[in-house]
Amino acid sequence: MAEKQQTKGPWIHRFLVRLLTVALAVLVFWLLRFVIDDIDTWPGPNLSEVEARLLDADDLEQVEAIAIEIAQTHRTMANQKRRQQILGDSTTNSQRTMNQLLAIRRLSLEKEVKPLQEEQTALADAETLFLANQKQYQLLNDDISRLNEQLDDLQERQRTLQQALDQQRQPVREEYYTLRRRHDMKLAASKLAVLVPLLVLAVLLIVRQRNSSYAALIYAFGIAVLTQVALVMHGYFPTDYFKYVLILVALGVVAWSLVYLIRLVASPGKDWLLKQYREAYETFFCPVCEYPIRRGPLKYQFWTRRSIKRRANPSTPSNDADQPYTCPMCGTGLFEQCTKCDAIRHALLPACMACGDEK
Ligand SMILES: [Zn+2]
Ligand SMILES: [Zn+2]
Repeated sequence: MAEKQQTKGPWIHRFLVRLLTVALAVLVFWLLRFVIDDIDTWPGPNLSEVEARLLDADDLEQVEAIAIEIAQTHRTMANQKRRQQILGDSTTNSQRTMNQLLAIRRLSLEKEVKPLQEEQTALADAETLFLANQKQYQLLNDDISRLNEQLDDLQERQRTLQQALDQQRQPVREEYYTLRRRHDMKLAASKLAVLVPLLVLAVLLIVRQRNSSYAALIYAFGIAVLTQVALVMHGYFPTDYFKYVLILVALGVVAWSLVYLIRLVASPGKDWLLKQYREAYETFFCPVCEYPIRRGPLKYQFWTRRSIKRRANPSTPSNDADQPYTCPMCGTGLFEQCTKCDAIRHALLPACMACGDEK
């Protein structure tokens, strides 16, 4: 037998190897994640930039100018209203003074006392102030209503402009989404450009090295890369599309496994065949047709696979005999003379019991 049996080593080593293999897979996964996150930070299309390019610049300027004007008009109006309020207070005050003075004069007239010169003057002053205030109040009122009209006008213009801009925004949105999609596709392609060569490398390594001692490392690497590829595909392709990719991959894996198993059953590999021969020889059945090997002390015995294992006496289950033996059922040579030492050896097992010669 050319291939050496793999040594297994103490359990702590095996455990550490498994643990570190998992750690390796996780670290490879992270490393790829960092690369993909970096690709994600590439600048994409900007909505305000597209708007500046596609919207009418005059309209945009006008909308801004009108917004400023509206704010100013609001401020002026608030100012005028405040002044009107102060004026109103003053008017009420002068009216009250006037009423008091008039009451005093009425009293004086009733008592037939001549009103004082100061009272006369104060009444005239209050009257003048009252009338002036009234006039001022009226002027402010006119101003405020003029501002109101101006505001209505401005708001109407703003609405019209906004409607025009809204109509222009539809193509802006379409343009933006087109750019966005193109950018996303570029990102997906870049990510796959990183991942697919790694995936191909992993597949090649698995195909070539799956029986080597480092198979676990390669599988860890392959699983990490494959998971990232699946995540990227899931992130960028529509779910409907991804569903088909996933089911096709699953179908491929299942079909491949089935083909592999069927081929193994139909023409088993060397290791598999040896395992089968060994089990048959152990229970003294022909490895080819399962007819009992009746030689030596077992010549007149009857047994099954289960009963032969239950026989406690180790001397009984043996069919040692210094004669070659051929299965009477299928004609396969089961024990033969060793070409090197002439002892009788198992014909279908690799080594001679007597001299260790391997074939
Ligand atoms: Zn046979
Ligand atoms: Zn031999």
